Amino acid sequence: MNFDIDKNGYYGRFGGAYIPEILQKNFEYLQENYLKIMNEKDFQKEFHALLKDYVGRPSPLYEAKRLSEAVGAKVYLKREDLNHTGSHKITNCIGQILMAKRMGKTRILAETGAGQHGVATATVCALMNMDCTVYMGETDVKRQHLNVEKMKMLGAKVIPVMSGNRTLKDATNEAFRDWCNHPADTFYIIGSVVGAHPYPDMVARFQSIISQEIKAQLQAHEGRDYPDYLVACVGGGSNAAGTFFHYLNDERVKLVEAEAAGLGVDSGESAATIHLGTEGVLHGSRTLLMQTEDGQVIEPYSISAGLDYPGIGPMHANLAKSGRAEAIAITDDEALQAAFELTRLEGIIPAIESAHAVAALRKLSFSPHDIVVLTVSGRGDKDMPTYLEKFK
Ligand SMILES: *Cc1c(COP(=O)(O)O)cnc(C)c1O
Repeated sequence: MNFDIDKNGYYGRFGGAYIPEILQKNFEYLQENYLKIMNEKDFQKEFHALLKDYVGRPSPLYEAKRLSEAVGAKVYLKREDLNHTGSHKITNCIGQILMAKRMGKTRILAETGAGQHGVATATVCALMNMDCTVYMGETDVKRQHLNVEKMKMLGAKVIPVMSGNRTLKDATNEAFRDWCNHPADTFYIIGSVVGAHPYPDMVARFQSIISQEIKAQLQAHEGRDYPDYLVACVGGGSNAAGTFFHYLNDERVKLVEAEAAGLGVDSGESAATIHLGTEGVLHGSRTLLMQTEDGQVIEPYSISAGLDYPGIGPMHANLAKSGRAEAIAITDDEALQAAFELTRLEGIIPAIESAHAVAALRKLSFSPHDIVVLTVSGRGDKDMPTYLEKFK
């Protein structure tokens, strides 16, 4: 079996491009040209120079000795938390803004939930002097005041969305509506491996620098370029896609995805899409999503805003349904415990999203010689209010 995307934009039966007529031309152009543009020498040179000097890549691969002792395997942490703006998201935004520039676009659109993708997008727009509009549910605008102020300071327009539950799904719909009204000059920067083809593949390829670096770093540390396990958290699935990319078809490597169980998989308050999802179309691709029997999207819940999404990228739907990847559902409480454990063992305060991946270590049975690489997708600064509230 092969787990790469096929030439029509499908991973197995998942993926494709289900889009409105008005955006047909934009998508056709992107589908036909994204690989060509990405592979141009000039593009590669500018992309990699920015990753090195602006983002701070390669991110370190750190052998976590005390954590290793605690879980009974040799655990390396891939430190995406050390990137500029505090997570893996900046890598994708750099790639997409360079793509937008090559296509002659002058205006950037993005949606954001907690504001992490909005801040990363506003950052690259400041860097490249591009007009930036970010749609954000009004509920999230209230909850994530600091990120809203950061986006504004960076020069972005933040538009609060008043429809639906006023969260990420509604912001995405609104951003899409804006794009339909301005298809000629506008580029939409999507924040994860979701949406219509070619976005899932384009984002996965930008983030694949993570597994490219892991290969070289493991070779240097261990004298072999592959681990026994790769572990990452999954919201839409971009940090996991980047972590897995160069190992997708290497069956020596077990792939583990930590998804958000919220208050529990069966509690009615979760975002465990792989466990609970059924097949359908969400935001332009065929995938797994949490929906009622008559196809209404079920509002997700997780303590972690970055994992609080009712769908999942089509790559991950295929990895899960084919059995290539193992999905482990982690509750809010388990993630919080893991955040504190990592902090005390290694002096690293992780994002609450990343803490879901750390918690998954406790649900796996390792042999002592196993080599595990776990991606710490982001830093915990943004989650300090949550951490303080739970552990007074
Ligand atoms: C946004 C975010 C995630 C979830 O997004 P993916 O596309 O699944 O990677 C995970 N961790 C952090 C720190 C984030 O900001």
